[in-house]
Amino acid sequence: MKRHSFFTRRQRAVCGCLYTHTATVREREKLAKRVSHRLLIFQRITNHITERRFLRNKKIYYLKITVKGWKHMLHIGNHISSAKGFEAMGKHALKLKADTFGFFTRNPRGSRVKALDMEDIEKFVHLLQENGFAPIVAHAPYTLNPCAKEERVLSFAKLAMEEDLKRLEYIPGNYYNFHPGSHVGQGKEVGIQKIAQILNEVLFEGQKTKVLLETMAGKGSEVGSSFEEIREILDRVSRKQYMGVCLDTCHVWDAGYDIVAHLDEVLSEFDRVIGLSNLCAIHLNDSQNPMGSHKDRHAPIGKGYIGFEALSRITNHPALRHLPFILETPHEKDEEWALEIQTLREAWKE
Ligand code: FE
Ligand code: FE
Ligand code: ZN
Repeated sequence: MKRHSFFTRRQRAVCGCLYTHTATVREREKLAKRVSHRLLIFQRITNHITERRFLRNKKIYYLKITVKGWKHMLHIGNHISSAKGFEAMGKHALKLKADTFGFFTRNPRGSRVKALDMEDIEKFVHLLQENGFAPIVAHAPYTLNPCAKEERVLSFAKLAMEEDLKRLEYIPGNYYNFHPGSHVGQGKEVGIQKIAQILNEVLFEGQKTKVLLETMAGKGSEVGSSFEEIREILDRVSRKQYMGVCLDTCHVWDAGYDIVAHLDEVLSEFDRVIGLSNLCAIHLNDSQNPMGSHKDRHAPIGKGYIGFEALSRITNHPALRHLPFILETPHEKDEEWALEIQTLREAWKE
């Protein structure tokens, strides 16, 4: 029986060490290939077996595996249109030198969703693997309100999330981000309960997608503009292992968290209330408004109140630097996103 384990210094690294009892080179190569493939699909290493425990056995081979694209690099990309299908999105991202990206699972306004083109999906999954993409961050439509008052709106939210999660099973190991929604006068407590209820209905055993709650700006009656509210939702979900959080820099700034002058304090607060281990992705945006404005108007990187320096401190922060960063900056042309990606990569210290 082959036994193997991966060792990485952080969650993602350029190589792992593989220990195996397999004798032939050919078999070892096969095993290495299989493991590296699995890594690329699931992108997260969970089995940390200590070296000592493993080395007690005599016949052990040490393999060093290099997984393409897993070098220490900033994982960054922008929000990409899904109109031309999955493979087209992947190619688009590559063109912009991105190694992750965000996309809407369906038209932000329409509720309809196109039937899946399995050939397209297959090519897409292959493209992600070949190019060593970090997890991609799907985004539920804005119209989805999982804590709405009206039954009709609630059942759409549930249906859409169910359907989206089912579809994402074909692209395993990625994220599905959604806005907790607006309680529209019912009060935050009711809102939080409704959101948790929907999550308890749509999450299923063995799913391969993590569902992320996005931190919100607190516009109108939005739920999720404080870390405490996010925590309360998470607390009420039974399948917690499939949940995570996506921090939107524009939103937390607008909600009143000073990520410019007190990033460390904000992150400690996040850790204390939610836990940094639950943080899976970052929406990297500048803000058109001062801290605490509750406006939610994104600005290009370096063109708003947060500023380039503060945003680059975020991508470089030891607690965050390994996460996928998604730009949701208002631009028209591809070159503008490509430039943001390039500039942020250049400011990223290895
Ligand atoms: Fe969002
Ligand atoms: Fe966002
Ligand atoms: Zn926003």
